[in-house]
Amino acid sequence: MLDGKIALVTGASSGIGRVIANKLAGLGVKVAINYIDIGDIKADAEATVAEIKAAGGEAAAFAADVSSEESVTAMIKEINAELGPVDILVNNAGLTQDTLIMRMKVEQWEKVLDVNLKGAFICTKAVLKGMMKSRYGKIVNIASVVGFSGNAGQANYSASKAGLVGLTKTSAQELASRGIRVNAVAPGFIRTAMTEVLPETVIDAMKAKISLGTLGEPEDVADAVVFLASHESDYITGNTIHVNGGMYM
Ligand code: NAD
Repeated sequence: MLDGKIALVTGASSGIGRVIANKLAGLGVKVAINYIDIGDIKADAEATVAEIKAAGGEAAAFAADVSSEESVTAMIKEINAELGPVDILVNNAGLTQDTLIMRMKVEQWEKVLDVNLKGAFICTKAVLKGMMKSRYGKIVNIASVVGFSGNAGQANYSASKAGLVGLTKTSAQELASRGIRVNAVAPGFIRTAMTEVLPETVIDAMKAKISLGTLGEPEDVADAVVFLASHESDYITGNTIHVNGGMYM
């Protein structure tokens, strides 16, 4: 169904993004693996490409900092030349810098908003030209349960994710007439590097709030993303699928 489509997954060298990229590639999608070129992340992005190719899929890695318009514009040029125009955009890149508001520095606020929210805006804008031309597009924004519930210690992160939901609804309204659907997936607590750093006591406290009694896996989120990227969801736009085991309803 998705055979031959081209997807860009931001922050796809690890965690949820990596699983999304693998699942899309398994459905015949050519996947652009975006990564930010710091530390060992390039090697992780290359490993993601290698595992997709080993499974018979098509992928290539592209560096860009999603919070920089210049960097994203250059990346989209490269993707257009190497794979073609993007049909499916998954705004997955994100980070946390948790602390209470009292202690939160403006720089910590700005960094998280820059990557999680401004980054999604920049990437959305960058792929629109191609999508409008082909009168087709699927954009999936990875929000979070805390964008709906709030979470002490995550003022910057929860605001960025609530903002993503607003961006999702507005883009859906602006772009529907061009055949572009925009939706969000709001994961609950998912087992990735982002949650691995949390102490056992915090994980246990979280589990107590989850109706299904366990953390989710990246696959659970990726399955919802694949649905929103596919034709099976063509009559859905401006919406959010919650993948949280019933921790917030
Ligand atoms: P992760 O840290 O493995 O993935 C985040 C990715 O974003 C990393 O690969 C990182 O390198 C990349 N990234 C960070 N800044 C970037 C930038 N400026 N440009 C490009 N890439 C950048 O963690 P994850 O859990 O897989 O998170 C994926 C998404 O899911 C994030 O948006 C996160 O907020 C969201 N999410 C995660 C959970 C969870 O419990 N793990 C819950 C809700 C939402």
